[in-house]
Amino acid sequence: MGNFSYFIICGLIFSLVLNIIYFSKKHVKSAETKIFSVLIIINLISLISELLCLYFGFILPENSLISQLATKLYLICLMSFLLFMTLYIYVICYVSNDKPKIDYYKKLELLSYFIWIICVLICAILPITTKKGFATGLSVNFVYIASSLVLLEWIFPFIKNIKSINRKKIIPLILFVLFMVIISSIQRANPELTLTTVMEFMIIFIMYHTIENPDLNLVNELTYAKDAAEKANRAKSDFLSSMSHEIRTPLNAIVGLSEDIATFKHEVPPQVLEDVEDIGNASQTLLEIVGNILDINKIESDKMEIITMPYDFREEVTKLVKVTTTRIGSKPIDFKLDIAEDIPDELIGDKIHVKEIINNLLTNAIKYTEKGNITLNIKCINKNKICLLFISVQDTGIGIKAEKISRLFEKFDRLDVERNTTMEGTGLGLAITKSLVEMMNGTINIQSEFGKGSLFMVQIPQTISRMHVPKETNNLKTEKEVAAINYGKRKILLVDDNKLNIKVAKRALDGFEFDITTCENGVEALEQVKTGNEFDLILMDIMMPIMGGEEAMKKLTEKPNFSIPVIALTADAIDGAQEKYLKIGFTDYLAKPFKKEQIKEKMDKIFMQK
Ligand code: ADP
Repeated sequence: MGNFSYFIICGLIFSLVLNIIYFSKKHVKSAETKIFSVLIIINLISLISELLCLYFGFILPENSLISQLATKLYLICLMSFLLFMTLYIYVICYVSNDKPKIDYYKKLELLSYFIWIICVLICAILPITTKKGFATGLSVNFVYIASSLVLLEWIFPFIKNIKSINRKKIIPLILFVLFMVIISSIQRANPELTLTTVMEFMIIFIMYHTIENPDLNLVNELTYAKDAAEKANRAKSDFLSSMSHEIRTPLNAIVGLSEDIATFKHEVPPQVLEDVEDIGNASQTLLEIVGNILDINKIESDKMEIITMPYDFREEVTKLVKVTTTRIGSKPIDFKLDIAEDIPDELIGDKIHVKEIINNLLTNAIKYTEKGNITLNIKCINKNKICLLFISVQDTGIGIKAEKISRLFEKFDRLDVERNTTMEGTGLGLAITKSLVEMMNGTINIQSEFGKGSLFMVQIPQTISRMHVPKETNNLKTEKEVAAINYGKRKILLVDDNKLNIKVAKRALDGFEFDITTCENGVEALEQVKTGNEFDLILMDIMMPIMGGEEAMKKLTEKPNFSIPVIALTADAIDGAQEKYLKIGFTDYLAKPFKKEQIKEKMDKIFMQK
């Protein structure tokens, strides 16, 4: 059988081992691994057919039918090997790169199969002469020519996609072309040298190490870990939002009641008054912390939404500043608010988040300044319906070291923890502020000198809804304010399942001539409202047993003559809540815990319009 048969026997054993190793492991089914699977099977069959050619060539007379069949099988295997090497090139050029062209690949694949069928038919039809150890004839020549043409055909996609092809994956191809050329020339001169299939095996062996061949078990483990992490993250988000809801409800009672006690200044002993104020302040801080945790949770899970609506920027900022600056307390700080004249009367933007940004910067300035000045300066550039707001907060506080400025926006990172131990904070404020600013397509910058003070500068674009028209509004406002106190005798329906909440809301409505009816759920509320106009206002909690506020509202709006304004009272502090409630039919929305002024403000709006 000739000495060269030992090469083939060795190649056959190695190929068999490689097949067993490869197919005993689970693999990711990528286009590359599929082609590789076919290639190693073809190589095994090629080696067997080549061994048969040699065997029959030696034991049977020249040109026997069996030898001819074995040789044709071998030639077909050779063409099949080339077909799948071609597909491998197409895959690395058009599928497994950054910009896959799957459709294009599919067309090329079909064309390749078609050409292969024609070549197989021609090879089968053309005559062949088998001798001891080798074969000649038109069929063999045809396969040689076809193979050379295929090698030439590879060059085109190769050069076209050279930049996007992974270099590692080219190695087996280059070696294949090189070996093919060398072996073909040797075999032309010495036909009995049978090296092609062994060379194929070597190429396959190299490919085994260069194709993307990740272990499926590892991939499964990673997928499992990823799913578990995502599940845990979802559970964390759900826990945080339900916790925030649960905390907000009792806080509503604490804030409301302590505020209420504080209004009876002269009847309460000074010590109790002081304690009540402390309780109020502590609850407020707790509320802010819950709000911050909720916000960062929303930002991290991409649930933070920017909800735009028209608003009076000047009015909102003035109101905000009034509340926030009460935190200065007894510190010797001069606060200055400077709002430019040309700020439009009405802007369209996310007023809640714009206020949150200003509030965070202002709160920090107050927290980290012991004495001196704090200035909130707001300027703008109005151009083509866009008002670019320049908001800056400058303080003469403790300042920030230059090397720590870059860490300022990292969440939970509080600088100089030792210095800050006496100050409340979670280290979330600036991280949230930065995310909010960026979500509104704005920027935030800082200048600070350690020991001297800081300057926080924010730029946010808002849409202009109404330009500024200077007018004298003072008289009008006082008239409105006076009228606001005198709502007249109004009938109010208060719907809440929580006794404490009813008590707090009733206290907030104290001092007016209201006739308040209470009930505990939506069904009871519907029983109270028969004709649709027996009350002047309904204050409706959302989460209630038997029938919640949303369902009750829907049922109320179905009543033909229903015309009572309904304010949703809820601890649901999620974004978009306002929009959601207005859509259902609520006239307004009040997040718990609410202050006396907030409920008054809503009533002003409703009763003054009537
Ligand atoms: P915190 O809840 O700790 O205030 P922030 O994210 O708002 O969290 O701020 C992060 C850190 O940045 C603070 O702990 C503080 O060290 C520093 N910082 C923020 N604003 C100022 C300021 N105006 N002056 C000095 N340091 C500040």
